[in-house]
Amino acid sequence: MTAAAELPDRLEDGEISALLERARTTRLEKQWRVYPARNPIASDLHPCLRYQVLRIVAWQVKPPPDPEGLATIEQGRVMEPRIIRQLEDELEAHGIEVVEQQAPFELKQRVPAPDGPEVMIVRGNVDAVLRYRRDRIPVEIKDTGEYVLDANDTEEDLKVSPWTNKWRRQAMIYAYARSVERTLLLLSYRGRRKPIWVHLDYAELEQVLQLCTRATALLRELTDVDHETADQALTALDVPYYPDQVDAETPEPGLRAAAKQQAAAECKRCPWFERACHPPQPAPPAIVIREDLAAAVARYVEVKPIGAEAERLRKALKKAIEGVPEVVAGDHVLRGKWDSREMPMQLARVDDFWRWNVFKGGEKVA
Ligand code: SF4
Repeated sequence: MTAAAELPDRLEDGEISALLERARTTRLEKQWRVYPARNPIASDLHPCLRYQVLRIVAWQVKPPPDPEGLATIEQGRVMEPRIIRQLEDELEAHGIEVVEQQAPFELKQRVPAPDGPEVMIVRGNVDAVLRYRRDRIPVEIKDTGEYVLDANDTEEDLKVSPWTNKWRRQAMIYAYARSVERTLLLLSYRGRRKPIWVHLDYAELEQVLQLCTRATALLRELTDVDHETADQALTALDVPYYPDQVDAETPEPGLRAAAKQQAAAECKRCPWFERACHPPQPAPPAIVIREDLAAAVARYVEVKPIGAEAERLRKALKKAIEGVPEVVAGDHVLRGKWDSREMPMQLARVDDFWRWNVFKGGEKVA
């Protein structure tokens, strides 16, 4: 800390602004703690099997979130109990009661399946449970950004981004753990709220449970590995890297190349990437034909650049084409490449992103 005698008599506007940001980041970084993880958890159901193992054996090398991420985590911690209190006050008169808060649960399966002992494969805490007559409704509260709030109205929208899809899987596990059909995901941003209902999709639930069961079985086998040896040990056990896992899980041959590219792009955002996991990056295919995107691209060109529909289409298309330099969709061609942009001073970081445009007859139209 600077000694009082060394402090100047007066600070200029810009100095105080910079100080506010720096002091906040310093406080948040000091408060940040990394704890060993022991099991898959409902709030971090990344679909990569390696990820689920590395969460536990390589937790020490997980980097802390950037300043923006730290601020978001703190905001969520502050807002969540406040929103639950608001729900209690608002719903009581309508016969809906908050009957549980931070309700822990554990799901068990036989590991290894089908004859092994029953062990915990995933655990979590349900933010709140509402009761209306005989109905019980688990609630998950997510304090989020304006963009996420505006871009998501339904559980289908949540599937578009890997980040919000994790929320959907989390909500689904809550419903299953509480033996009900649905969970209320409550998005919140600066006093605005948006309820999104997430329903049990049994095929996907089965995939999530299998992922957790397989990760648990691997962890019981890999008792001696750490962040330096896990990559090799997982390879020796034929555990695929995420792009190969996606390749194997994508039945439509036409979609496989693009899905693999997207998974490779997802790897670059993974906290273990090049720390505890070194997936080979597949060479991008030169051109991919995506007739299934033709209508969405045409509509995007029509409604761009304004409105929630344009934003939703932009997000869905970005997800579908990321990592593929040239995608032909009906009359349009989408061309893209990796690019970097410098973020504002207070969030000093370089952001890699997929820069893309739509062309028709060789001319840029969006
Ligand atoms: S870098 Fe990719 S393969 Fe490795 S753990 Fe992360 S998502 Fe999985």
